[in-house]
Amino acid sequence: MQLSKVFTILKKSNPKANTELIKKAYDFAKLHHADQRRDSGEPYIQHPLHVALILAELNLDEESIAAALLHDLVEDTKVSVADIKKEFNADIAGIVEGLTKISKIQIPDNETRSAENIRKVIMSSARDIRVIFVKLADKLHNLRTLSSLREERRKRFAREAMDVYAPIAYKLGLHSIKSEMEDLAFAQIEPMIFRDINEKLRKNMQHRGREIEQIQLNLAKELEKNSIKPLKIFGRPKHIYSIYKKMQKKGCCFENVYDQVALRVIVKAVKECYEVMGIVHNLWKPIPEEFDDYIAMPKSNMYQSLHTAVMIEGQPVEIQIRTDEMDKVAEGGIAAHWKYKGVYGDRKFDSKLDWLKQILQWQKEMRDSKEFMEMLHVDFFEDEIYAFTPKGDSVSLPNGSCVIDFAYAVHSGVGDQCIGSKVNGKFVPLRTQLKNGDQVEILTSRLQKPSRDWLKFVVTSKARSKIRQKIKETDKIPVKAPGRLVQEKKELEDCIIDVEGINNPKIRIAKCCHPLPGEPILAIVTKTGRTAIHKLGCHNLKKFAKVRKAKHAASWIDVSGITIEVKVDAVNRTGLFAEILNTLVSIQTQIKSANAKAIHNDMVECSFTIESKGLSHLQDMVRRIKRIKDVSNVYIGEIER
Ligand code: MN
Repeated sequence: MQLSKVFTILKKSNPKANTELIKKAYDFAKLHHADQRRDSGEPYIQHPLHVALILAELNLDEESIAAALLHDLVEDTKVSVADIKKEFNADIAGIVEGLTKISKIQIPDNETRSAENIRKVIMSSARDIRVIFVKLADKLHNLRTLSSLREERRKRFAREAMDVYAPIAYKLGLHSIKSEMEDLAFAQIEPMIFRDINEKLRKNMQHRGREIEQIQLNLAKELEKNSIKPLKIFGRPKHIYSIYKKMQKKGCCFENVYDQVALRVIVKAVKECYEVMGIVHNLWKPIPEEFDDYIAMPKSNMYQSLHTAVMIEGQPVEIQIRTDEMDKVAEGGIAAHWKYKGVYGDRKFDSKLDWLKQILQWQKEMRDSKEFMEMLHVDFFEDEIYAFTPKGDSVSLPNGSCVIDFAYAVHSGVGDQCIGSKVNGKFVPLRTQLKNGDQVEILTSRLQKPSRDWLKFVVTSKARSKIRQKIKETDKIPVKAPGRLVQEKKELEDCIIDVEGINNPKIRIAKCCHPLPGEPILAIVTKTGRTAIHKLGCHNLKKFAKVRKAKHAASWIDVSGITIEVKVDAVNRTGLFAEILNTLVSIQTQIKSANAKAIHNDMVECSFTIESKGLSHLQDMVRRIKRIKDVSNVYIGEIER
């Protein structure tokens, strides 16, 4: 194959493409791979060249195509990432570096279908998603050219593609890559079954070829009568692996799989999709339960289309109806949105990458890699269902999701406050598993908090991580022990500053000027009712120059020599109490008594009666205690004058 073929494809979608960059990458790769050959005996450069062609077909940008041409240099020749950076640029070098990292990942033979492997691949490409695109194209070309390898290696490549790379391609909406990969891999893994289905499909197409042509003509005529001009109508055999999966799922034989052949109708507008569907259903008898509206309910990888199946002369035929744009997305997925738009800035595109970003985010938050793998497993391999909000918006969820998963999918706030739900108008428990098409109403209460029990039945990673996060947060808030006399907690500052004309002011020391004890201060009553203490002369006071009422004189109260009870709320852990005591002692605090009692689950309340040595001492003390790990609150208990 020649480089010019890549240019021809590329220029169709991007006439202004920078072919110079690609030519340079090609020459560079050709030079350094010059003395290498593939297992098949052909010059090595043919492999990167084909990978580049696959990316050009996906309308990817010039840098990805250049990186594709260079992708095996670091691993197989003396060229380094630094050389590529010098010769080209940092982005291209970064993609090649990511690819080299992925190729070093050891995927154990016996355990390819594991989220851990997918995690490793995604992590290696976290910096630039184009790494994944090039990797998928690389894998696809390797699968196409397996024949010169020994059977054992062929099978291993095939399993890896089926279990790791095809799911990633599916999630990115790269349908053409996913389907081709699956068929190529399936041919290696189950050669007998593959040949059998392939043969039957071929015969069936021969046999039904004319019939399908006739159906197309009939449909075209009928559409014309209704003044709809489709852009394209065409028939195509379904992918072999997808027929096999359907046979497995329905437990039936080849002959009973409806959609051996799919007829596709491409139109201009969404409105026409539904019109075409109406006409199709008038013309032929639709098969119940074979209709799917992925336009109203796009799949999570952004696939949109209407699917229906009709009986034509006693034979079932699947018909897919979609717009031109939907068709491009279906074939190219995220890559179709890539063109001219780049990685950042396009919100629609960004939202499609959300799942990837979330995975990366969760990875950071989760200490437990087992937990991460669990969630990846669910989100990658399970089938989807659709449930509806009372307003009719659809929510896609993995199979087995419960009401709480739904609530979190709608909004994390709804999930956190969810107290009950109605499914299809009936009250049901929160753990109820949802079915496709369920209408779900969530009842919320501000007083509700997520419970640890919920973790036992949620399946989505979003719900799981949000519940865990909320539980962690709630644990940190001190909870008053039942039966305790509830007393108002006064901030330390409230006791050491006197504000003229205000009883019991709620005082905040302003962060802009940090007045220290003894310095001249002024109090400002803010709109929220707080009293902010500023240093006299602080520039922020200018804002209040004209608001006379807001300003109040304030002064520090000298509290030296008085006895104060200091209370500390903290998460109970070994050594905490001693740490607070040591802190007090380290600043020469006179301690009269020290106590600690558990107040709730893992919270503890410590109280120390101390003798104040003045303002600065008190403030220093509070600052030091607050810095101790697991301390959540420091405040004043009793004061004796
Ligand atoms: Mn390669």
